[in-house]
Amino acid sequence: MADQLSNEADREDGANEFKEETALRRIDVGSPVEIIRRGFYHFKTTEFDKFPEYFEELAKGQKPQFLVFACSDSRVCPSRVLDFKPGQAFMARNIANLVPAFNKVRYSGVGAIIEYAVTALGVEVILVIGHRRCGGIKELMDLPADGATSNDFIHDWIKIGLPAKAKVEAELPDPKDEEKYARCEREAVNLSLVNLLTYPYVQDRVAKGTLKLMGGHYDFVNGKFDLWGIDLDIKPLLHI
Ligand SMILES: [Zn+2]
Repeated sequence: MADQLSNEADREDGANEFKEETALRRIDVGSPVEIIRRGFYHFKTTEFDKFPEYFEELAKGQKPQFLVFACSDSRVCPSRVLDFKPGQAFMARNIANLVPAFNKVRYSGVGAIIEYAVTALGVEVILVIGHRRCGGIKELMDLPADGATSNDFIHDWIKIGLPAKAKVEAELPDPKDEEKYARCEREAVNLSLVNLLTYPYVQDRVAKGTLKLMGGHYDFVNGKFDLWGIDLDIKPLLHI
């Protein structure tokens, strides 16, 4: 395969073949190796080889502006949906795009991402993106009240979102209300934004105004994206 990439004739054939395959008419379910070969070929010929200065600069180091939390759902890749370029967004993806509260005993994978992105990379924005028809959020809303779980990790993970679920259930007490899933997709983002503030380096930079926290929601049914911020202005309440 490597030889093919260096062959000019094949390169042209590949480019033509590629135009066909990236038209998003259908999901390619062919050979995994072929999908990867074609995908990297596309990236290399349309981006890496085409903009050498860009990638030479990136090779020296990264200085991403964003840390993005998004769901692992295969339909919501932020680099695709928001067109983030290489080097632009440090990325964390997990089931239901949840950020747990600061905890040195659990969830070190998430904690390490936040710590590194904020203290070493100095990201300016942490964006948490929820999405329409999130399976993780539906699972959270449908969790049995007795806390019984039937899997190794999934329910334990999505229980991070329980405060969001409780808020939605208080607002929409009818268990048959389908609106509760959509509502919880956004409430879980807000919960994650609040949880981000339990990380001391996040709290410190937000207070200084060098870091912003934003929530987003991608609706892939209607092709819409909402974005909101949290306002932590300190207002004087009393002066005596
Ligand atoms: Zn999801």
